Amino acid sequence: MRIVFMGPPGAGKGTQAAILSRLFGIPHISTGDIFRANVSEGTPLGIEAQRYMDAGEYVPDGVTNAMVRDRLTHGDAQPGFILDGYPRTVEQVAELDAMLRSSGQKLDAVIELTVDIDVVVQRLVQRAAEQGRPDDTEDVIRRRLEVYAEQTAPLIAVYKDHGILIRIDGLGDIDSVSNAIASAINP
Ligand code: AMP
Repeated sequence: MRIVFMGPPGAGKGTQAAILSRLFGIPHISTGDIFRANVSEGTPLGIEAQRYMDAGEYVPDGVTNAMVRDRLTHGDAQPGFILDGYPRTVEQVAELDAMLRSSGQKLDAVIELTVDIDVVVQRLVQRAAEQGRPDDTEDVIRRRLEVYAEQTAPLIAVYKDHGILIRIDGLGDIDSVSNAIASAINP
């Protein structure tokens, strides 16, 4: 299974991707988590990415695509993977397509978690209080939502046209959302 999670920040992509990853026994690949790990280790990639992340902007496509290209060559991703937070731009969609095509693979499903924007802001403010993520301040949250609406939301139509989009209401409790996802993928 090769699956992509889409939806605005705070929709629950990370939580649901982790659950599905355990269920299917395939890796959960979160570009945000990889960037954060690099930031905390102070790697050159982390130093490059941090200024974009702190401002709520996207890390440049060249940097992000190279990182994902490398991650998808690891042995654990050969049977399948769950991408969380990638692709997020038109260029990333094209790059992911090219990466998969070159190894004779394709995406099986793109899961869009739909949520009410007010709920998302509330969740992100709460996560900021609990986890203290530097990009969870109110101004940055607002900017991240704008960037999502401008650059990432339009990609959903592309995957809809490809016939692989699955829309799931992300507003329920964690178990009911994950049950809805599992039955949509594995009816
Ligand atoms: P996330 O944890 O997925 O919300 O990602 C946190 C931050 O990492 C984002 O606001 C971006 O700055 C950066 N990031 C994560 N994934 C991507 C991506 N696919 N393209 C560009 N930037 C990304």
